[in-house]
Amino acid sequence: MTNTYDSYDIFLSPPDLTGRELASLAKLIESNWLAPSGPELDAFEGEFAALTGIPNALALASGTAALHLALVALGIERGDAVACPTFTFVASANPIRYVGATPIFIDCDEATWAIDPSLLDHALSARPGIRAVMAVDVYGQCCDYDVISQICTRHGVILLQDAAESLGSTYRGEIAGSQGVVAAFSFNGNKIMTTSGGGMLVSHDAAVIEHARKLSMQARESGVSHYEHSELGFNYRLSSLLAAFGRAQLADLPARVAKRREIRRRYRELLGNIEGITFMPEASYGETNAWLTCISIDTERFGADREAVRQALERERVEARPLWKPMHLQPLYAGCEIFGGRTSADLFERGLCLPSGSALTAEQQERIASIVLKSRER
Ligand SMILES: *Cc1c(COP(=O)(O)O)cnc(C)c1O
Repeated sequence: MTNTYDSYDIFLSPPDLTGRELASLAKLIESNWLAPSGPELDAFEGEFAALTGIPNALALASGTAALHLALVALGIERGDAVACPTFTFVASANPIRYVGATPIFIDCDEATWAIDPSLLDHALSARPGIRAVMAVDVYGQCCDYDVISQICTRHGVILLQDAAESLGSTYRGEIAGSQGVVAAFSFNGNKIMTTSGGGMLVSHDAAVIEHARKLSMQARESGVSHYEHSELGFNYRLSSLLAAFGRAQLADLPARVAKRREIRRRYRELLGNIEGITFMPEASYGETNAWLTCISIDTERFGADREAVRQALERERVEARPLWKPMHLQPLYAGCEIFGGRTSADLFERGLCLPSGSALTAEQQERIASIVLKSRER
């Protein structure tokens, strides 16, 4: 394959600019406040906290960095184990390894595609040494946190929330990101809003975020004029330039959620009644931001397999992607403990993410649906 930049006319989830980013950047450049702390970062964090209602926010270089710092700030270390869904992006699991801890993978629940609560409960009873649970809001939809928090409390483990994909979603009327002790968001280029690269760590616990803030800037001790260090720190702060970019994007978040939900509704209209196509189930406990619209394809009933559909789209310069390949099937995590595993393996086999960017038009969606339907004829 050639360069992916010019391989597609329709990308899976490209950045959607507001038109205000350039002015926001220009204003910051004129002010010369470009250091990795300062008014622009404060303003971005403040606006993010106001929008989510989660009072403490720390802007970081990526969602992955946010998850890594969260584990460090919560004291997860070598010798600890962390339960993590197998059905997720690799960046949920890697930070567990960064701190020297061991990931214990848990299969997903067919009803939500999120971590299976009864398997999690079983793993926490059966496997000593699990100190934390990394719950992941898959494709934008929150986990069932009432159930998961109860399980975590009962077993005395810490709940972290990988909300990288669920910015703007809700769980029982509350914004995604307030369900864990800490939560991490991502502003990667394909997420619902972007800073081209970046992330945010949030918590209702001010002390955790203040510790993470110190760690994110080389863990310099305060109160002395020289550089004094007693903890191992990182250089994980978001650039002020990207904070300026993010402020322009953030202002539009509710509209972005509405657009992605509308895109999902239209896909359902176009493909929802087709034999052999099933949409990702939508849980009744919350409202998803519909970050990506995902389907699963029954080869027999539909008349073509997932790969045939994906390739038909690719030939027409449309980018679609298989669902997450489970972590327990990744060479990187070969040999790790796994509880269950069949549900996620099956989803990987049959599942496809459809183009879902917030600038996608109804005409483009009709074209995509007709390519999907025609893929049966080859
Ligand atoms: C995107 C993503 C991340 C990582 O975020 P980056 O900003 O790309 O580092 C982590 N977890 C999940 C589930 C993601 O989708």
